[in-house]
Amino acid sequence: MSALNHTHDADARSWVDSANAAGCDFPIQNLPHAVFRRAGSAEAFRGGVAIGDQVLDLAALASKQQLDGPAHGAARDAARAAALPALNDFFALGKGAWKALRHALFELLKHDAPSATVQALRDCLVPQAEVEYTVPARIGDYTDFYTSIDHALNISRLMNPDGDVTPNFRWIPTAYHGRVSTIGVSGQRFHRPMGQAMAPGAKAPTYQACARLDYELELGVWIGTGNAQGEPIALEHAGEHIFGICLLNDWSARDIQFWEMAPLGPFLAKNFATTISPWIVTMEALAPYRQAWTRAAGDPQPLPYLENAANRESGALDIRLEVWLESEKARNEKTGPSRLSATSFRHQYWSVAQMVTHHTMGGCSLNPGDLFGSGTISGPGEGEAGAIIELARAGQSPVTLANGEQRSFLEDGDAVLLRGWCEKPGHARIGFGESRGTVLPARN
Ligand code: CA
Repeated sequence: MSALNHTHDADARSWVDSANAAGCDFPIQNLPHAVFRRAGSAEAFRGGVAIGDQVLDLAALASKQQLDGPAHGAARDAARAAALPALNDFFALGKGAWKALRHALFELLKHDAPSATVQALRDCLVPQAEVEYTVPARIGDYTDFYTSIDHALNISRLMNPDGDVTPNFRWIPTAYHGRVSTIGVSGQRFHRPMGQAMAPGAKAPTYQACARLDYELELGVWIGTGNAQGEPIALEHAGEHIFGICLLNDWSARDIQFWEMAPLGPFLAKNFATTISPWIVTMEALAPYRQAWTRAAGDPQPLPYLENAANRESGALDIRLEVWLESEKARNEKTGPSRLSATSFRHQYWSVAQMVTHHTMGGCSLNPGDLFGSGTISGPGEGEAGAIIELARAGQSPVTLANGEQRSFLEDGDAVLLRGWCEKPGHARIGFGESRGTVLPARN
């Protein structure tokens, strides 16, 4: 677990003025990583770090002298790796290198940096408004978990009002192995999938455009360093293997899913698109927002390999999350998106560290740049559900948008926006930016 240090000081300011604005997602205490280039250009993609409304171009920084000298050796090597068009090599360097780079960038960007430093770094800034992003690493494997008990209960109770989660849910951070090829960065547009669906009472399925298209509010967990096959990651070391977190939308075709998923799990219902936010917020930046991880006394307590004091003390993360929907009509009439729900990741039944440990316990290896989906994040209260099938009760009570339109499921032209941030008195706000994806008509 990352301890707090001077880079978390809430009073720290940057010479990049926009980083000091109230409500800014990217103050000097955050410093998340992405891969970018100037929008519409033929430039090479390269790594950058967000500061205020700017991107600090790490490839440009690497050509300057600011990280030269023996004191900066580890940070210089880390900056070079983090400047590449995929962050895998940077992830593989491990926690010491991630920290060295964060701390060096903090010194270069803080308000009292020497004027020669400020002058040199100004040449390395690109406005975020002028860039486009790509998936920040070569994702080798993608695993999507199912770790929100409120989501699992909501889904179960749609089938049976007295329903409970499956018996394994309270014992296992359960998951399925997903598909990497259709993971795209914010701005992703995809066609409504075609597939088989079985109508209630029908004798045979039909081949049709998905009629029950949904989103899932999730976080993406980026694996930094991996493990060798056959060498599980113990819970006490799991945190060292996690680089950071982004927003993730696991688009889901519910009619296709409910017909196909027994007995092997989701297949075409989940493999047509997954949208992630471009910025990866590091675990070190999130350290002030760790919380105690708890398990209700009446529930099974974790088996010993999923249990330790550090996880109990600080395994949960208070990341606030929102889902917004912008219909085509709202976009054309410029009336803005409607907020569908708001919750926090702190309610999740299993911690990120428990996911890492359980994933590797049988001998499975993880690699730098592997991605986990947290599973849909729903909270316990009204309006905290992370999917529209829960909010609209499978179409029984459609959601009303700000302009009066109603939704049971997503319609063509709908854009879904995920937002996330951490905030509390005495600490800097740590934002995730936004993930946006748009539904295009089916190609049939
Ligand atoms: Ca999911």
